[in-house]
Amino acid sequence: SPIPDYLAEVLDNCGADSGERADHIPQLAAADPDLLGVAVATVSGSLYTAGDTDVEVSIQSVSKPFVYALALCDLGTDAVDAKIDVEPSGDAFNEISLDPRTGRPSNPMINAGAIAANGLVTGNDPGHRFERVLDFVSRLAGRQLVVDEEVYESEMSQVYRNRALANLLRSHDIVSGDPEDALRGYIRQCSILVNCKDLAMMAATLASGGVHPISGERVVGAQVNRRVLSVMTTCGMYDAAGDWMTNVGIPAKSGVSGVLIGALPGQVGVASFSPRLDPHGNSVRGVRIFERLSEDMGMHMMEPP
Ligand code: GLU
Repeated sequence: SPIPDYLAEVLDNCGADSGERADHIPQLAAADPDLLGVAVATVSGSLYTAGDTDVEVSIQSVSKPFVYALALCDLGTDAVDAKIDVEPSGDAFNEISLDPRTGRPSNPMINAGAIAANGLVTGNDPGHRFERVLDFVSRLAGRQLVVDEEVYESEMSQVYRNRALANLLRSHDIVSGDPEDALRGYIRQCSILVNCKDLAMMAATLASGGVHPISGERVVGAQVNRRVLSVMTTCGMYDAAGDWMTNVGIPAKSGVSGVLIGALPGQVGVASFSPRLDPHGNSVRGVRIFERLSEDMGMHMMEPP
């Protein structure tokens, strides 16, 4: 297949790197900045890769759509909607962005909404709730994933802002019980280790309506899947969501470790990895890779078929 050669060429020509590694998590600030990879998984189960696609990295905010999906599967749309809105905030990932009256976060793709979503996942205790998160994300990836405890501890050592968010959410009863549980659950979900191939399979599962392209398992219900893709479309790229939608035009989510996923419904899941971030927190070379793929493969959703 000519596809791997094409992908290698895309990596070679994705331009000079710039930007900075995330510095609010010591482990991420120390990542090798030159790592670069891309993986494309089709809904029929083919996987194509180029570059550093076996390197494992913490999933960070790319976990957000999936934990939101799990909360929706557990509780249903109405119960989740009562706690987390679906409106783009146009804000940075760590913005407070709570409705001043109800305390409801604007959407599940910013930290406030993601902490709330983690708190909604069903389970007997925090350990069990996290097991369910890890199991769900592992089924999407198609293999058993693990947590990077060093990344987890590293982020927990500086978690002041997210802890403030968790406490604010608790004060509005968006999070119930001990807010520390939702906070730790959220930081743990961000610390799950994935490589580009895992991420491409996860994105391809969303692209195929919630059915894993290889295992054939329905991991995400059809309605929930549609909702998650919709929220990724409007809110997935931090405060650059509008720019992304006009240029690339597919539902996507980025994370501060430099990972980026995109899902074109009915077609492909794509994942890229390059640690240096632009001022919005999106991978500089990742965005360029997606712009190129979208252009070359006609992936923009507003393009007539
Ligand atoms: N765990 C990270 C944080 O809350 C995730 C942020 C991100 O990837 O946007 O700071």
